[in-house]
Amino acid sequence: MKKSAMLHSANQTGTFLLSLDTELAWGYFDCLNPQDFSSDGQLERQGIHALLDLFREFNIHATWAVVGHLFYETCEKCEPCPVKAWEGKYDSFSQVYASDSRLWYGADVINAILEDGEMHEIAFHGYTHRPFNETTMRRDEARFEIEEWLRLAQRKGLAPRTVIFPRNVIGHLELFQEYGFTSYRGAELPSPCYAIPILGRGLKRYHRYLSSFISAPGYRHEDFQSNGLLNLPSSQHLFGFDQVVSRRVNALNLHRWITRTVTDGIRNAAREKKIFHLRAHPNDFRDDKDFDMLRGICQIVSEEVKSGRLTSLRMDNLADMVIREAILPV
Ligand SMILES: [Zn+2]
Ligand SMILES: [Zn+2]
Repeated sequence: MKKSAMLHSANQTGTFLLSLDTELAWGYFDCLNPQDFSSDGQLERQGIHALLDLFREFNIHATWAVVGHLFYETCEKCEPCPVKAWEGKYDSFSQVYASDSRLWYGADVINAILEDGEMHEIAFHGYTHRPFNETTMRRDEARFEIEEWLRLAQRKGLAPRTVIFPRNVIGHLELFQEYGFTSYRGAELPSPCYAIPILGRGLKRYHRYLSSFISAPGYRHEDFQSNGLLNLPSSQHLFGFDQVVSRRVNALNLHRWITRTVTDGIRNAAREKKIFHLRAHPNDFRDDKDFDMLRGICQIVSEEVKSGRLTSLRMDNLADMVIREAILPV
């Protein structure tokens, strides 16, 4: 989409946001199970390229939140490197430090995302994927994670403004504001049905399989909360469902059926001019059915965009519009 086409009023249409936690093996730095990954990082890369192809086909914008060490081609023995503290503590140390393992270094992945230019945003996802828990991460440690990440992003001329917190642990927001970030992905919105006494817990786990009447929630611009940064909460984690059940559903070829909560949520957002924010990890897409599930979602987003009721945006673009309109009301 041309930039001019995106410069509409922030709430003339519904908005589709997609954020992807892009980390190769970093998400599991302290609990690595090598069987969860390919040995050479090739499978994970194929997945990322397949996603980029799909987004190009349907003109879908995305926010790719990357771990800082992925900017390196190989370990540069950054000083002081926080990974050194993993020695004797986590098995992953020997894979990461002084290595060029393609599961831990991914400059090529970031370059591939950047090749699509304005389509995609590169966002912050920690320098080492350490959670920003304010009781276990001191302020100076948080500052270090941010500054090191920015140092590497600047090598590519990037000035990122969006934060996706590692493991969704939100903390040290005032520091992010200081460094010019404008928005972050907040905790997933609960569906109103989860509040139903007793029944709610079961619905939370299984409603994707039981009912087509409940859609994942969207939200309105006026619902935005600002803590110095705009909170753009997730509406649904695409793969946040029971894995045993979903394998059975996939085996029955019903994988598109279980995304009804997402597709209904997107249709509602288009109809009611709400924001629908889908999140996933590129690593979550493991087989053809996973990609076909996303293809179904992209088709619906594309249909709604063509009908003029929905806009696919990066998180930074949406934050810009909201901030600009708050400053300069029409
Ligand atoms: Zn390092
Ligand atoms: Zn992560």
